[in-house]
Amino acid sequence: MTTNSIIGLFKKILDNDLIISGENLKSRFYHIWKTDIPLESVCLLMPKTTSQVSEIIKVCNENNQEIVIHGGLTNLVGSTKSTKTQVVLSLEKMNNIIEVDETSKTITCESGVIIEDLINACNEKELLLPLNFGARGSAQIGGAISTNAGGLRVFKYGMTRNLVMGIEAVLPDGTIISSLKKLMKDNSGYDLKQLFIGSEGTLGIVTKVVLRLYPLPKTRYTSLAVTNDYQKVLDLLKILEDKISNNLTGYELLWNSTYKQMVSEKTIYNKYLPDKFKYYLFIEYMGRDFDNDYNIFEETILDCIESKLIDDAVIGKDEKEQVNIWGIREDVAVLAEERKFDQQFDISIPVPLIGDVIAKISNELKECGGVKTIFPFGHVADGNIHFIIGKDSESEELKSQINDIIYNNTELVNGSISAEHGIGLDKKRYLIKSRSEDEISLMRSIKKTIDPKNILNPGRVF
Ligand SMILES: Cc1cc2nc3c(=O)[nH]c(=O)nc-3n(C[C@H](O)[C@H](O)[C@H](O)COP(=O)(O)OP(=O)(O)OC[C@H]3O[C@@H](n4cnc5c(N)ncnc54)[C@H](O)[C@@H]3O)c2cc1C
Repeated sequence: MTTNSIIGLFKKILDNDLIISGENLKSRFYHIWKTDIPLESVCLLMPKTTSQVSEIIKVCNENNQEIVIHGGLTNLVGSTKSTKTQVVLSLEKMNNIIEVDETSKTITCESGVIIEDLINACNEKELLLPLNFGARGSAQIGGAISTNAGGLRVFKYGMTRNLVMGIEAVLPDGTIISSLKKLMKDNSGYDLKQLFIGSEGTLGIVTKVVLRLYPLPKTRYTSLAVTNDYQKVLDLLKILEDKISNNLTGYELLWNSTYKQMVSEKTIYNKYLPDKFKYYLFIEYMGRDFDNDYNIFEETILDCIESKLIDDAVIGKDEKEQVNIWGIREDVAVLAEERKFDQQFDISIPVPLIGDVIAKISNELKECGGVKTIFPFGHVADGNIHFIIGKDSESEELKSQINDIIYNNTELVNGSISAEHGIGLDKKRYLIKSRSEDEISLMRSIKKTIDPKNILNPGRVF
């Protein structure tokens, strides 16, 4: 079928202003950090309703037309790239919040809502949506579900999967599977929503969702603490879990090179503590006792300094200081911008081994000519460490060398090559380092059953 004839079929479903094609595609892109690369596609479609999504995918299925799904375009594994022969479907116009239910503590919305908008809508009703990560101002809830996003509060509230109560999704043949229930418990048969969570848009297009919420904390304090000993990173976590476990909502780690870069003259962030320490910890406390929380948190941190568990610490006194402290942890674009080319990693490693494994990986990377900067950081309490590696060349040989160093060391400790970001197009070669052949074969069978023509997000994951 020609480009014009398939676009003609889409015009029967969508108004003209919801279809972008030809020269107009030049103003669109496949990733928020690649706005200078025009989108390659037959056309980009922006449906406003689930039934339009269903009609579009039926047309694609009948015509063997491949289709790539766009959420907020913040993934870090190339999964929203498309070719000139693929149609792109963006969820950006399906951005309505349908209901915030204060009694059930749930929010129901369309999948194209930006995560920060959901967080704000919940806050207005004194409720917390605990999803929190650097890309929350651009990422959509449908993207977060499809990638099973994690972030800064996973060890307290779990991954996105733990927040999803109900899903509506459209299968590759156009069938709408809708289960928008607000139930904590439902063992009536297979939990089908799990098929769409973390499967990177390969099994269905998520169109609506019901999420679980929590009471909104009334206080939030952040401390930046330092130590030179990874064992103390572990000991401090244990003490905090003992003393303030209900209120401990974040425990993040930056290595020295990363902290140095984040507080260098290239950024807007204050250097609260000298850049001579090995480890920089970001500790978040959220509570509901306005009168006492600050004192409890301060006392806990002071005790840890006194007992030499940490060498020094600061506590963000007001919102401005907290925003600044968290900027040092979250504004990772600064790390990616340092060199012309970069490689990004999000591995999972058993928590007690992180200090040694990251030191080993860093030493091996330093030996490997061509690596200019090594920035490790991450969600240490749940075992997920990110690396941004800077290079001056895009050589394939160097890329493979770096991948091998990181993924071989991850495999050695029975870790995962992707804690959060998924596999997309970029990490397919390495999936075998985290999953057995039998597991991958089962994944392929599920894909084949649900999408026998392989039209939906083809080539992602495996
Ligand atoms: C600065 C920065 C910080 C980040 N920090 C974290 C972090 O801490 N934790 C973390 O987990 N991730 C993080 N990420 C990665 C990224 O933000 C997440 O993977 C996010 O969930 C992607 O959402 P998105 O809407 O941008 O999806 P996209 O990038 O648009 O898409 C991601 C995948 O989901 C598919 N998809 C999108 N929407 C749908 C839908 N409605 N139905 C079916 N498939 C769909 C796409 O086809 C693609 O395969 C970060 C990214 C950046 C740039």
